[in-house]
Amino acid sequence: MFTLDDTIAAISTPVGEGGIGIVRMSGPEALGIVQGFFAAGRRALFPPTPPSLVPHRLTYGRVVDPACGKVVDEVLVVYMPSPRTFTRQDVVEINCHGGVVPLRRVLELCLRDGARLAEPGEFTLRAFLNGRIDLAQAEAVLDVVQARTEAGLRLAMDQLGGRLSEEIRRVRGQLVDVLAWLEAAVDFAEDEIPERDMGPDLEAVQETLERLLASAEQGIIYRHGLRTAIVGRPNVGKSSLLNALLRTSRAIVTPIPGTTRDTLEETLNLRGVPLVLVDTAGIRAASDDPVERLGIERSRTALASADLALLVVDGSESLTPTDYDIAALVGEKTALVVVNKSDLPAVADAGCLLAQRPHLRVSALTGKGLEMLEETIIETVFAGRVVASDAVLVSSPRHKESLHRALDHVIAAQATLADGLPADFVSIDVTAAVNVLGEITGETAHEDMLEAIFSRFCIGK
Ligand code: GDP
Repeated sequence: MFTLDDTIAAISTPVGEGGIGIVRMSGPEALGIVQGFFAAGRRALFPPTPPSLVPHRLTYGRVVDPACGKVVDEVLVVYMPSPRTFTRQDVVEINCHGGVVPLRRVLELCLRDGARLAEPGEFTLRAFLNGRIDLAQAEAVLDVVQARTEAGLRLAMDQLGGRLSEEIRRVRGQLVDVLAWLEAAVDFAEDEIPERDMGPDLEAVQETLERLLASAEQGIIYRHGLRTAIVGRPNVGKSSLLNALLRTSRAIVTPIPGTTRDTLEETLNLRGVPLVLVDTAGIRAASDDPVERLGIERSRTALASADLALLVVDGSESLTPTDYDIAALVGEKTALVVVNKSDLPAVADAGCLLAQRPHLRVSALTGKGLEMLEETIIETVFAGRVVASDAVLVSSPRHKESLHRALDHVIAAQATLADGLPADFVSIDVTAAVNVLGEITGETAHEDMLEAIFSRFCIGK
């Protein structure tokens, strides 16, 4: 069960050294706790006289350990009384010097005086449980923090502002309306309620759900990035291509430890789309491993989790059996063939590799063809899925899955209706669709679901 009546505390800024660091508390005791160890002004009084903290104003002072009278840190404290706060509870933030030790000491004082260490995402959970934001908005908090490109940030801010929630509520409202009529039709005789054709209502709902689902593919790519593997045998120019792309895209490069052992992920901002490059540089060959086999192994690992493959071959040499082996590994994945070293006389005819997939001649050395490559990547990824730039985009796999289930129920309800079955049969699927849509905004989310969502947050958020 989730509790709301105790006071939680956590360090809300990243671990490590920084200019400032913030200890945050939320709950009924937050003010009392900070008053127990905060002395306003220049002089550290002991024991500190409870300072009068003016709401929403920063107050300068010192944190004094009441047990020994020692000054722990020089801080700025802000007290934000309920309900106009992030969690809708009393919130206190203590701006400390951003070192590990002062932050930890201040947090310890909060815990000693009655606060409990917050669980991951618990501040945001409280904001949700207290009705300040809905579930889709709570998830957007994490999206804002983790956004990798401007486009991703814009999406997350849209969702945080409630655009997706509004759309879901509207369509859910339409279904609730249909449901009300269906229930009346079960309870009352035919001549007691007005005639109504629900076909058009259900069709309109279906259309909206389909439109949202169509946006999801793009939205999820903007939000989570497109996992891209650059594969090919050794020396064809994979690293050179990666570096060349990084340069032209003026990338924000963020190395993140890979999901599998020995892989590193870097995010390349390609025209707003985060390409998450799966780099398998860490893979080490056994000393007797021939270099070609290593190329195949690396490609296999990189491909395992990739959405897009860039198969690089050396255009200045004939294709080798290894090129074919790696092409076979790519299989049916979305892929482009990149014929590199086009600054040298052309030898390879790569036309037979991954037939039906675009082939591009580039030179990682001179940069020739890279613009075209970028354009083709975007086209390939978004093929036929152009969504208006101001449209509401679904960017969460969880939301997409719920929308799919809701759509299935709406289609089933239409079929039941078309078969001329009684209203209570139709209402089974309409009710299910209403509930599934409620999972997106949180009206019908159950506890396990909330736990799964908020456990992805870090402590202090
Ligand atoms: P990888 O093993 O596939 O990552 O290949 P590298 O990026 O290390 O490149 C292998 C060699 O090919 C290096 O000597 C590069 O300088 C060279 N190379 C890479 N791309 C090009 C290119 O477009 N043109 C030419 N002429 N040489 C290239």
